[in-house]
Order: sequence, then structure tokens, then C-alpha cells
Amino acid sequence: ATPAATMVGSTISATNGVLFKGADILERVRGVDAVVFDKTGTLTHGDMVLTDVVPIRGETGMSGVAADGSGEERPDGGAVIGDDRGDEFGEDDVLAVAASVESDSEHPLAQAIVEGAQERGIEIDDASAFENVPGHGVRAETARGEALVGNRKLMRDNGIDPEPAVERMERLERDGKTAMLVALDGELIGVVATADTVRESAKETIAALQERGLDPVMLTGDNERTAHAVAKQLGIDPENVYAEVLPDEKADTIERIQGDGRRAIMVGDGVNDAPALTTAHVGIVIGSGTDVAIESADVTLMRDDPADVLKAIRISEATISKVW
Ligand code: ADP
Ligand code: MG
Repeated sequence: ATPAATMVGSTISATNGVLFKGADILERVRGVDAVVFDKTGTLTHGDMVLTDVVPIRGETGMSGVAADGSGEERPDGGAVIGDDRGDEFGEDDVLAVAASVESDSEHPLAQAIVEGAQERGIEIDDASAFENVPGHGVRAETARGEALVGNRKLMRDNGIDPEPAVERMERLERDGKTAMLVALDGELIGVVATADTVRESAKETIAALQERGLDPVMLTGDNERTAHAVAKQLGIDPENVYAEVLPDEKADTIERIQGDGRRAIMVGDGVNDAPALTTAHVGIVIGSGTDVAIESADVTLMRDDPADVLKAIRISEATISKVW
């Protein structure tokens, strides 16, 4: 059955919470080839939880020069710097440093880290000089020193070699978790990881879109390995996964996806994706979108359910032949 729709002003709204900004939007929805989903909060629930805290022994030498400053090369080419750091920093220390930095961030990853620390009864010290590096992580001055929490790129950009933690990170990422590195005063001290769960209705929606000959696409700032693990759970073709996309690159990525005259719907929750929503042939904002996002959206879904994307497509197909 087709959901009943009514027109109020220029907004067409279906009884079940699908708002179209104008009648022409119905036509536009019909003409699409691909549906691009923002991963976090759209395909997944977006309520991340802290799952792992791993202290990393401080083998952070980038130069292959011994830590005692003697300039002696170790036979294996690596260097051991402060090799008692593994004892110095336990799980709780790593988490305390991470939570202290993240307490000033509003990112969902930050919330998971802070809540995880609170649940373990860890005291979270105030930090100062907080700085957000969009798409990469955060930095702040903590009671224990200058700290960084973020991805490999954030560490490399600050002269820290992520290598000692990479194997561990990859293992977490293959499980679909987001792994982040923690560094203190220029040295790696650990890894923290969070997990998010895929929405059951997302899986069904992906399958239904494919049946209609539409290409489901995933767009995320998260790393490649995590993105592919989640895409696999959802049945999204690996070729349609765009990972490690910086917030300000999302609109360009939509343009690439729309190359060769292809048209895309972009579905997002509005956090950082307003330009992508406007660039797409149709922008759909899902759930409790921000005001900016609703402003840039052609369709607003009142509920927090990716299945309503399918509903929007069905409504447009069912009503297109009628005269409004
Ligand atoms: P998403 O598409 O999940 O919103 P973002 O662009 O916000 O991705 O972030 C991309 C990556 O940058 C994250 O997966 C994480 O590795 C790192 N990152 C971003 N913000 C933070 C933060 N507050 N703490 C730690 N890492 C972060
Ligand atoms: Mg984001």
C-alpha cells in the first residue's frame, strides 16, 4: 500500500514522517542511480561504545637509532625507546589520558571514550589548549603531558610512528571497530577502540535498493578496513565504499560518484555533511538532523530509520503520475 501524502504549502508530507521540500523533488528522486549513505549514525546506530584499551610498549623509534643517544644501530634496525613504558602505562593510564583529551570533544567517538572511562571509575582530569583536527583526531595539554588521540595520519603528521600499534589496530579494524592511537609527549602509549552496531533495517534497505537496480554506496571518514568490514555486514559492494574521506571532501566525492551523468541520493544525519547533501541530486537528512542539514536537505525523514529512504522512493514512484 502506498502511504497517503498531503501537500501543505510547498512541503509534501507523507503520513509516516517523510517530508519532501517541494513537488519537483518527487520527480528528482525517481531519476537516481545510486544511494550514498553516510556510515556513522545512518547505516549504524551511531551510539559507539568503548570496547578495547591496549597499552603499547614504547618502541616508537623512527630512525633506527638506539634510545640511549649513543647512535648505535640495533641489529634489527629498530630502536627501543623507554622500554619500561609498557609497565609505566597500564590500561587505565592510557584511557585516562585519552578521556582527558576527549572530554572537550563532541565527536561520538569522544563520547564513547569518556563514558568508557567513567564506567571504569577513572578520574578524568581537565585538559587545556584543546584542538580538534577534523577527520583525524584531537590534541590537548593534559595533567600528564601533551596528548594526541586519533588516527595514523594524526600521529605521522606529529612525527610519531604508528608502526608498533599497527598490527593490533588492524585486528580491531577487521572486526569493524574504530581503533584510535593515543600518544603522550611525542610517544605512542596505546590504542583505544570503539564499536558501533549496524542497523538491521539498513541491511534490508541495501538489499531492497539492489533489487530495484539502485547502487548503494557507503561514505565515511572512518578508515578503509573498518569501512569494508561494516560494508560486508551490510551487503554493500566493496567497490562502492569511499573511506577516509575528510569532512570537506565529502561533496567532491559525491561529484565523483555522480560522474558520467549518474545521479545520486545522499543520505546523512547532517553532521558535517551539509555540502554533500546539497551537491547530491537529492539530499535526504535522517532522524534528528541539525537545522543546517534540514535546510540543505530536499527530503527530511522524521524517524531515525534508513528504511524510510525506500519509503521516500516508493512515494515518489507512486505519486509521480498524479497531478498535484
Ligand atoms: P565519520 O565519518 O565517522 O564522522 P570523521 O571524519 O569525524 O568520521 O573522523 C574520521 C576519523 O578521524 C575517525 O575514524 C577517527 O579515527 C579520527 N577522529 C575524528 N575525531 C576524533 C576524535 N574526537 N577522537 C579520536 N579520533 C578522532
Ligand atoms: Mg563525522
